Amino acid sequence: MPQNEPSMLETLRRIVQDVDSAPSFQAALEILVRSVRDATHTEVCSVYLLDDRTERLVLMATEGLNANAIGMVSLAFDEGLVGLCATREEPINLQDAPNHPRYRYFPETGEEHYNAFVAVPIMNRRKVLGVLVVQQRTNRRFDEGEVAFLVTLSAQLSGVVAHAKVMGQLEMVRGSRTTQTQIYQGIMGAAGVTLGRAVVLYPPADLEQVPDRSVEDLEHELEFLARAIEEVRADVRALDDRMSGTLMPEERALFDVYLRMLDDHALPSEIAERIEAGNWAQGALREVIDEHMQNFAMMDDPYLRERMSDVRDLGLRILAKLQDSETEDTREFPDNSILIGEDISTAMLLEVPLDKVSGVVSATGAANSHMAIVARALGIPTVVGVSDLPVTSLDDAEMIVDAYLGRLFVQPSRALRKRYKDIIKEEQQLVAGLDAYKQKEAITPDGHVVALCVNTGLMADVARAKDRGAEGVGLYRSEIPFMLRERFPGEEEQRQIYRQQLEAFAPKPVTMRTLDIGGDKDLPYFPIREDNPALGWRGVRITLDHPEIFMVQVRAMLKASSGLDNLNILLPMVTTVSEVEDSVALIHRAVEELREEGEFDIRLPRIGIMVEVPAAVIQIADLAKRVDFVSIGSNDLTQYLLAVDRNNSRVADLYSPYHPAVLRAVRYVVNEAHRVGKPVSICGEMAGDPGTAILLMAMGFDTLSMSASNLLKVRKTICHTPMALAKDLLEQLLELDRPQDIRDEVEKVLSALGLHNLTRARSES
Ligand code: PEP
Ligand code: MG
Repeated sequence: MPQNEPSMLETLRRIVQDVDSAPSFQAALEILVRSVRDATHTEVCSVYLLDDRTERLVLMATEGLNANAIGMVSLAFDEGLVGLCATREEPINLQDAPNHPRYRYFPETGEEHYNAFVAVPIMNRRKVLGVLVVQQRTNRRFDEGEVAFLVTLSAQLSGVVAHAKVMGQLEMVRGSRTTQTQIYQGIMGAAGVTLGRAVVLYPPADLEQVPDRSVEDLEHELEFLARAIEEVRADVRALDDRMSGTLMPEERALFDVYLRMLDDHALPSEIAERIEAGNWAQGALREVIDEHMQNFAMMDDPYLRERMSDVRDLGLRILAKLQDSETEDTREFPDNSILIGEDISTAMLLEVPLDKVSGVVSATGAANSHMAIVARALGIPTVVGVSDLPVTSLDDAEMIVDAYLGRLFVQPSRALRKRYKDIIKEEQQLVAGLDAYKQKEAITPDGHVVALCVNTGLMADVARAKDRGAEGVGLYRSEIPFMLRERFPGEEEQRQIYRQQLEAFAPKPVTMRTLDIGGDKDLPYFPIREDNPALGWRGVRITLDHPEIFMVQVRAMLKASSGLDNLNILLPMVTTVSEVEDSVALIHRAVEELREEGEFDIRLPRIGIMVEVPAAVIQIADLAKRVDFVSIGSNDLTQYLLAVDRNNSRVADLYSPYHPAVLRAVRYVVNEAHRVGKPVSICGEMAGDPGTAILLMAMGFDTLSMSASNLLKVRKTICHTPMALAKDLLEQLLELDRPQDIRDEVEKVLSALGLHNLTRARSES
């Protein structure tokens, strides 16, 4: 790239921004080819994208070749230099392209004059989506910097292409758009299949996430807007007055700009137009602000680009007024609502009327995100990590969630709906078939008994757990009631919550985990902002830094267990011996304090640690000696052993409880804890999966604790799997070195035992 020009980084940033803010996908491609041709000072830049149906790379946009060739010229993977680049999945840089044996000439492109040629693949998640090509007359070889520039650009833009593909925009560009079902792919968060209508959840004061929604009462919506605008004008004037002594007149000129933008003929009339076209006030506002932002983004003048932030600011002010005046609970949740959102947190999920919710779909998150675990506990089919989800346009859309396949079907065809209704019926029969296991003991055909407990958090879990014959609570996630409040609950408030759980199961044990926040578990009133939250301030690290929070909680647990004597206390995220000693000392202190206060019959509970980090695995004997029991938190242990963020859908394929390192680590913990005489349970999601459950049983766990939704499946599995067989299988599998091989073997065994329908997606059959 020639000198004395914007830096490569600046040029890249600019192109990516322009492409991102283009009003349509076709415009984005046109901007891309034009800007790349200019930036590289070449004569031709073209984009070829893969058409999945024909498996051909189609010329989609060009600057320099004959525009009539767009959509007409296409190549198979074994054709031409473009095909070669796609096959090799690497850049091709040629000085004299026409003399290359793979060169293919298309007269309709008029490309005979170009010698120098560079092609770079557009890759997303290991797949070729297309090829970006630059050509020049001069017989020269592009330098390394130029090729690197194109590779970087292509990598940054691959997301835009992937998104467009999912949205069906590729077909639209080619003029063959159909009204077909749209399919989005994510990951299973909680098993199940459901059919319903989307309700978009979005955080307040976030313009980008406001969904489109059809307007019901036009007059009312316009009035709503007028009132909001009037209030913002009044605020701006008041601000202007307040600042008159502080700001210079030219700085205060901004307020005039704002007022001009708020003039009836400016933004308000544009928004009103959109409302009249059918969108509600908030959606109309988003559309208008978006459009202005895009226009500003295209401008070269840095001053005007700066005005983007003013428009945005004004948009947010209007939005806040619109949201303020929206009366509480005006939100309607029809039966079978499917919650859709960019990032649905546990707190957001728990706020809605759950009896109306039949599914959840979140653009972010992965299988073991906290929200997914809670959804599993509630038995709500959930798909997470749907990175291409066009959230704002889905409100009220009819859809099918197939969580087994991690798939979402929007506007399903009649045939698809029929097929899924059948699957749902089959599912219900399967569940009904499991009812027989409600009263049974989990005992293998060769007579080994396995204790099955549940993981709880909500009161709703209790009834389900008891109905399914749980033998106690292996993990009570105490952070869940904390999430449902607007401040830390007080000691008496906590005592009552804990008492309900303890009483419901007494005399069976209830293992209460002390507050486990941080990582992906945020309390709205105690936000923790860190660069690496998973490696930061979480679990016992927080409660040791805040003994006032820890002591209140432990005191409440101890008081709640008075007279029941079924409390176990579990410490999360333990990494060092001193954390255990300090926490145990605090628990002892709480017992003494309460005894001194003399109000309750207080006994010292059994105390345990969670094994969630590799350090705790390696030092398990040292840690276990200091407590009464050990419980493996396999969700976090898998994340830390494999260095795979449990919330990141990009690396979700790597997150596997069948990874040999996970299985070997878990077995090591069982053996070591038993060697020092301590019982071991496992309360991560591994315990609730029939496939891994039989391996855990073979390892000799004393207790498996899982979501109530999985209890009957696992009990059935145990009742049909002889311990001798499970042990043989485990020994065999511990020799294998690939997660997928291990998983395949387990599935074979489950199939042979007639249990495959407990783990397989019904819809695949
Ligand atoms: C775990 O990490 O396995 C666990 C049970 O805790 P959570 O999923 O709540 O982090
Ligand atoms: Mg954990």
